[in-house]
Amino acid sequence: MRALPGVLLCVVLIPILSYPREEKMLLQTSEQTALPWTKSSSEKMVKVIVAKYGEGQRARAERGLRQISEFWKTEDGDAAAFEAFAAANFAGDQATLDTMFERFQALIEQMNGHMHEINREFRQQADLEAGPILPFDEVFAGYDPAAHIIDDFFDNKLAFVVLLNFPLTNLQERLTDGPKWTRRQWAEVRLAEMFSKRVPASVNLEVARASSEADGYISQYNIWMYHVLDENGQRLFAPKLRLLSHWNLRDEIKADYADRAHGLAKQQAIQQVMERIVTQTIPQAVVNNPAVDWSPWSNEVKPAAEKDSDTAVPGERPITNAAEPATRYAMLSLTYKAVKRVDPYSPTAPTLIARRFDEDREIPEQRVRAMLEEVLTSPLVPQIAKLIEARLGRPLEPFDIWYDGFRARGTYTEAQLDAIVAKRYPTAEAYRKDIPNILIKLGFTPEKAQYLAAHIAVDPARGSGHAMGAAMRGEKAHLRTRVEPTGMNYKGFNIAVHEMGHNIEQTFSLNEVDYTLLAGVPNTAFTEALAMVLQGHDLEVLGLAAPDAKSEALKTLNDFWATYEISGVALVDMDVWHWMYNHPDHTPQQLRDATVGIAKDIWNKYYAPVFGKKDVVVLAVYSHMIDSILYLPDYPIGHLIGFQIEEQMKKAGAIGPEFERMTKMGDVTPDLWMINATGKPVGAEALLEATKQALAEVQR
Ligand SMILES: [Zn+2]
Repeated sequence: MRALPGVLLCVVLIPILSYPREEKMLLQTSEQTALPWTKSSSEKMVKVIVAKYGEGQRARAERGLRQISEFWKTEDGDAAAFEAFAAANFAGDQATLDTMFERFQALIEQMNGHMHEINREFRQQADLEAGPILPFDEVFAGYDPAAHIIDDFFDNKLAFVVLLNFPLTNLQERLTDGPKWTRRQWAEVRLAEMFSKRVPASVNLEVARASSEADGYISQYNIWMYHVLDENGQRLFAPKLRLLSHWNLRDEIKADYADRAHGLAKQQAIQQVMERIVTQTIPQAVVNNPAVDWSPWSNEVKPAAEKDSDTAVPGERPITNAAEPATRYAMLSLTYKAVKRVDPYSPTAPTLIARRFDEDREIPEQRVRAMLEEVLTSPLVPQIAKLIEARLGRPLEPFDIWYDGFRARGTYTEAQLDAIVAKRYPTAEAYRKDIPNILIKLGFTPEKAQYLAAHIAVDPARGSGHAMGAAMRGEKAHLRTRVEPTGMNYKGFNIAVHEMGHNIEQTFSLNEVDYTLLAGVPNTAFTEALAMVLQGHDLEVLGLAAPDAKSEALKTLNDFWATYEISGVALVDMDVWHWMYNHPDHTPQQLRDATVGIAKDIWNKYYAPVFGKKDVVVLAVYSHMIDSILYLPDYPIGHLIGFQIEEQMKKAGAIGPEFERMTKMGDVTPDLWMINATGKPVGAEALLEATKQALAEVQR
């Protein structure tokens, strides 16, 4: 079932209600063997229905009876019950079918909306910066009130009502026939998909629990940077700087390009920290602990010589350099084992990998892989690498996959930006109040800006921030943003603008779409792309950027380089999942070794020729790999899509109205959505062509 668009999250993806995405659809050739008597009962009931409603209903009757036969179990009733059910619940005329469709649509929206409300409230303590998380809070956070819904709907036979009357489709049909369908037909297709799998609630609950545990592990994985020492034992970073892996670590590398004096040393230290995390040679004692000093080179751990945090409790944890015992990979393995239990109930997409690509993304894996490789092997890569070297005045280092100097903001130091942002947004409330002004600057009309602001609540996030949409009309989308006691910093602001992009998409695609069964976007790459379009204009919101041709070209090069970086990260994620499926009985240590090997292989193939250094593992540092279940490919796809969307907005001359027009399309196939939005299907061509032109512009 996929009618829970409101719970799309990013940055911290919390797949609590992700099982609906898991079970989006089933191809028609189910392996579930129908009970033997259903064949004769179905034939009998087709005759009864045709006699009652006419020959025109024969095809629908045959389809409906075939569909319910595939899912009917002995405990659902005998042949007489099956026949009575079909006779009573087949909508044999258009008026009855319309009524059935409308009521299901309305009630499912209510169900999704309220379930999502419970879920959001139960996760409050885990998600928001609201004091310590007690053990029972984690139980609340891990509880999924919707876990039993599909079971319940099969038990009370509402699922069979849908399957008797509305069509299940496969990806091929949606790709080939979808463009000819009416909006109502699309909505019916999405309605039927809700019940395309009959996964036991216990299995769904296990997926939710594993996700929650992995998420908890990741959300506490801070590195206290004042206590990270360089090779000479010197401190490089400011007191109290606490960086959440990997987001804040990566973003600190980006910010350090503006620090002419110490930036390089800081970046090298962070790369070393990242390698320690990936290889799990990081001492357990340094994770989220300001009570120890640590050299990521020698790996020596000592009691902190200086105190910078009140949360540091000396002696609370043993001070040794014993490595973290592959916990990172134990978490990933736990998630793998949980989602694997869904496989037997998903005969036509029998792996998580297939479900992610064929069902969630609705773009086949091979096509995604080809798009990523098109970027990674582009002849533009070495040209841009040369340009970066020239701009840096030194040979590339591996962390330069996060080179950030193409952006106009490279002219401001992080400290300057922090000061500007902190002054403007001392609290989350100050940001909330400014949302209408921000939106007007982004090209929304004052009316739409007010409308959107009224649909967005702002909460202080415990992690780096995320967006949590509503799942029924009348409810608000939630923007979770991290605000330090000294005010919002630039990183927090940049993420907040991104998350607000999600909230806007969530608001339009729920409240303005013609059928709530079509609420949402085709897949998470689209919501990421739309969010990134807004995030890319964050400096304009601060009144800092003057987008001339040169800076536009720089932005394009920045997008290309980011796509190049994240394409490799996505391939690592994909290959690790294939490895887990090929080695189902792996230990966390074996998974660690395999991941390190895969990260090196991808690096050596696509990056080493450009960077001149082999066997780098930083591509595997992304936290999403651990807690977000093969989500990372959505980011590069998002960049490609984002580029197509941005080009369209440029053509149209404004972000606001185009954002609204595009997102009202709702949840159809990616290509169909993109053709409506821009006239062309999803692809890398637009990015590569624009990058070529941008390179020429910059070198002019
Ligand atoms: Zn996002």
